[in-house]
Amino acid sequence: MIGEDTSLTSAEQEFLSACIETLEQEVFVDQLDAEHFQELDRNEESRADWEEYVSRMGSHDFAGITVPEEYNGAGGTVVETVLAEQAIGYCGTIVHACQTSLTQHVGRTLYEHGNDHLTETYLAPMLEGELIVSQAYTEPSSGTDLAHLETTADKDGDEWVVNGQKRFIDFARYGDFYFLPCRTSGADGDREGVSLLVVDGDAHGIEFLESQSDWHGFRGTAAAWMEFDDVRVPEENLVGEEGAAWSYITDELNLEHLTVARYCLGASQRALEIAANYTENRVVNERPTSRYQAVNHSVAEMATKLDAAYLLNTRAARILDERGISAGRMEGAMAKWYGNDLAHEIADTCIQLVGGIGTTTSYPIERIQRDVRAGRFLGGASEVMKSVVQHDAYRVLEDEEFDGSYVGNELEGLPWLDGRTRTEGPDHD
Ligand SMILES: Cc1cc2nc3c(=O)[nH]c(=O)nc-3n(C[C@H](O)[C@H](O)[C@H](O)COP(=O)(O)OP(=O)(O)OC[C@H]3O[C@@H](n4cnc5c(N)ncnc54)[C@H](O)[C@@H]3O)c2cc1C
Repeated sequence: MIGEDTSLTSAEQEFLSACIETLEQEVFVDQLDAEHFQELDRNEESRADWEEYVSRMGSHDFAGITVPEEYNGAGGTVVETVLAEQAIGYCGTIVHACQTSLTQHVGRTLYEHGNDHLTETYLAPMLEGELIVSQAYTEPSSGTDLAHLETTADKDGDEWVVNGQKRFIDFARYGDFYFLPCRTSGADGDREGVSLLVVDGDAHGIEFLESQSDWHGFRGTAAAWMEFDDVRVPEENLVGEEGAAWSYITDELNLEHLTVARYCLGASQRALEIAANYTENRVVNERPTSRYQAVNHSVAEMATKLDAAYLLNTRAARILDERGISAGRMEGAMAKWYGNDLAHEIADTCIQLVGGIGTTTSYPIERIQRDVRAGRFLGGASEVMKSVVQHDAYRVLEDEEFDGSYVGNELEGLPWLDGRTRTEGPDHD
């Protein structure tokens, strides 16, 4: 926040400050310092780096914040979750925030729906910082449109046999387990019949068809296009009820919408700080560029919009805290599209204010601009979020008193028209 944040309690504000302090002093140091950020961007990271990262996050209680402590979560709130994600995006990188975000929403789903085997074998170790998680949702023919997923799992004795492909999967090569939706019954496009499986990273039959690391931003996660070829999964690795995972997934996405938007905003705040400081020091025509109104108004607009986005996000998080993980779909969708579009707008505007040097690695702004770009469709495209908003917004905006018959006939009855209506107007032919 640039202005005072009256939407947070003083305990929540202290939590955010404590997160930033811990991240700066104990997490993003040594092996995980600023040089490591550049290595990630060059795809020169290692599994050891990610093991160290998740270990530090587990030991500092950043993983699975809303999950109770008995499963190694922090027993905290959704508001704390988004504040922690903001802090990671601000202090670290988007990909660090992404791996921890997975522990928040995958962790929550495992806690809500996982059996004892899943919570003991995967959830608790993940939140302790011992396991790297990978979310394998997107397929070549279904990204946004998850209900048309083509990956199948068929029951064979006491095992599921998984076949299909997943692409753009972060942490594909490092994942100790994959959180994987698949079709176990029903027809293409049905929401019923979708199940969630936890698949071990070293399961036989997993192949990496293509490395997808060298992309626009969001690098250093060893992302890949994967094939699951007769991969056998123990039946106890089914999350919740067979064929009933659609609601688990939409609930999970409801939380993910907030974390993805919040960590991208945290990163864009870092870019804004750098750009604002730069403009106070960069002299053009004998005055700092911050003295040009076009520049300082641009900073004013970004500061204002950033605060608006944080407030939207906190409001949605609080609704989830008060009314459960399924609540606040419209408010969450507002926070997601506005937050993610804005994070990209801010990072891009910051490059503009800094000029040519902003496109180099001298400052992290250009990396942030590339990193946050994917946030506009990751976990829910802005267009889809707006569709969710309009659906509920129309209901709220609806006024039964509104006279629809007047629409299109607004000129009717106006005295100076002498009884004519628009349709009866003068013939201009
Ligand atoms: C950096 C990065 C990291 C990723 N990490 C992961 C990961 O770890 N795990 C994973 O499972 N996936 C991951 N993905 C995939 C990501 O989730 C998908 O790219 C995203 O869901 C969109 O799917 P798609 O690319 O197939 O695009 P499509 O679904 O084909 O959509 C393309 C565009 O069409 C438009 N559109 C689609 N549907 C609608 C609609 N209903 N209304 C209006 N417009 C619409 C939007 O403009 C959208 O951006 C990652 C992608 C990137 C780029």
